[in-house]
Amino acid sequence: MKIAVIGAGIIGVTTAYELASDGHEVTVLERRGAAAEEASFANAGIVAPGLPRRDVSHFFSPAPIKLRWPIAAHELAWFWKWQRARRGDQGHLAQLQRLASYSLERLHHLAADLKLDYEHSEGLLMLLRSEQDSKAMQSGLQLLREAGREFKELSALDARKIEPALSPDTAFFGAIQLPDAQVANCRQFALLLKNECQHRGVTLAFNTEVTHINSARGLTLTVAGDTSARPFEAAVICAGADSARLLGPLGIRLALAAVQGYSISAPIRESLNAPRSGVLDQRHQVAMTRLGNRVRVSGLAELGGVPGHKRANALQTLYRVLHDWFPGAAKLSGGVQEWQGARPMLPDGAPMVGASGVPGLWLNLGHGDSGWALSCGSARALADLVAGKTPEIDLNGLGMEGLTR
Ligand SMILES: Cc1cc2nc3c(=O)[nH]c(=O)nc-3n(C[C@H](O)[C@H](O)[C@H](O)COP(=O)(O)OP(=O)(O)OC[C@H]3O[C@@H](n4cnc5c(N)ncnc54)[C@H](O)[C@@H]3O)c2cc1C
Repeated sequence: MKIAVIGAGIIGVTTAYELASDGHEVTVLERRGAAAEEASFANAGIVAPGLPRRDVSHFFSPAPIKLRWPIAAHELAWFWKWQRARRGDQGHLAQLQRLASYSLERLHHLAADLKLDYEHSEGLLMLLRSEQDSKAMQSGLQLLREAGREFKELSALDARKIEPALSPDTAFFGAIQLPDAQVANCRQFALLLKNECQHRGVTLAFNTEVTHINSARGLTLTVAGDTSARPFEAAVICAGADSARLLGPLGIRLALAAVQGYSISAPIRESLNAPRSGVLDQRHQVAMTRLGNRVRVSGLAELGGVPGHKRANALQTLYRVLHDWFPGAAKLSGGVQEWQGARPMLPDGAPMVGASGVPGLWLNLGHGDSGWALSCGSARALADLVAGKTPEIDLNGLGMEGLTR
């Protein structure tokens, strides 16, 4: 089939790869000049299978999302839905856990199969500053137990053996170790897989913005600057936070918000002072990860605010948390990359993977705070659906059913 993939973030690239591997003729349409330039650019890089988000306190960030001024009416409406979803029964949790485990398996499989050489390290340590923080984790840990996930509760002393560079001046109560989690460079992986896409004949059209999806006489895409629409037999929307804008005119209204987060990436000054893998400050919901010869500090979740404006206070929080745990780890005098990115997020935090209801139009979007962790599995499952096959994992609850999400 002749298929268009709209967007070349981690979701679009993995989707294009799977579709091309199935023998389709794939074209990726991306408005930016390269792949992984938006949300997939400098995220924390944590790939952890099946973390329940409500109780284990939103590992990847949605610590309570903060509202920033100015805020639009639709963002306030989204926030209200998000609050309601947090309090409600998260029925899709089991599916999400399976999708995350499946995604990690697929990531390992692709990396080994294609011999992809990307920055990665094993294990995630969640630091608990106080006994109270530890107690707050217990119901979440029960969910991990029920899901059969491997984890260890550690004393501060044992945690320091795993991450010996943790500052001796910062006292803490203990830690949770997730040995099967991984830290990996999302953008680097996306760029390597993009090359593999090219080897499989995928056409990559950069600087190409899709302005309209037309479904009246077959599926066609209007591209900015073109005089006529481009026909395709199918299209997959992987346009991250902007997907809702493309879907609206087709009568598909998705409550998709752009939840802003930040990261700083700095060269490691002294390797012995830096994290070995991933470390998460559970109270501040800030992740400190090692990516090759850099350390990345990432976190915060905000809705609203001035587009493109990096708040100095937000960045200062990241520097402060890094200093608390790994003082002297990074060269902060120059060459620090400060980044702001938007998580494409639906109110219940789960992605939408499946048919759109418009013939030939498929959705793989809204992966929120765990798009990297869920990408490889979502892409394979979506490709199976396009092929008319039953995916290896149950996607029930992650589609358009009832459109109440
Ligand atoms: C601070 C922060 C930390 C994070 N940490 C983690 C983590 O540790 N682990 C994890 O799993 N996830 C993490 N995430 C989330 C993860 O980064 C996202 O879920 C993921 O990158 C989303 O990928 P995507 O491909 O859907 O979106 P994007 O990467 O934004 O890609 C969408 C692409 O579509 C293109 N596009 C949009 N509209 C159009 C159009 N009309 N025409 C053509 N192209 C278009 C855009 O230019 C963009 O390239 C984090 C996010 C943030 C912000």
